[in-house]
Amino acid sequence: MPLYEYHCKKCGKQFENVVAISEADKKQVCPYCGGKNTEKLISLFAAKPASSSSAGMPGGGGFT
Ligand SMILES: [Zn+2]
Repeated sequence: MPLYEYHCKKCGKQFENVVAISEADKKQVCPYCGGKNTEKLISLFAAKPASSSSAGMPGGGGFT
């Protein structure tokens, strides 16, 4: 299962969670405050849709 990063809007912490793809867009429980007001961040390695590989930059992170 892929690893996703989440941001807790309640306490402001970020945390990682290994969740099924079908569960990834659901609210995750923050391990710090127990809140469910979280948002999924863009995964570093699963960010790009497979169809948008237009920029031919090898190893280009494009995280900025
Ligand atoms: Zn929290």
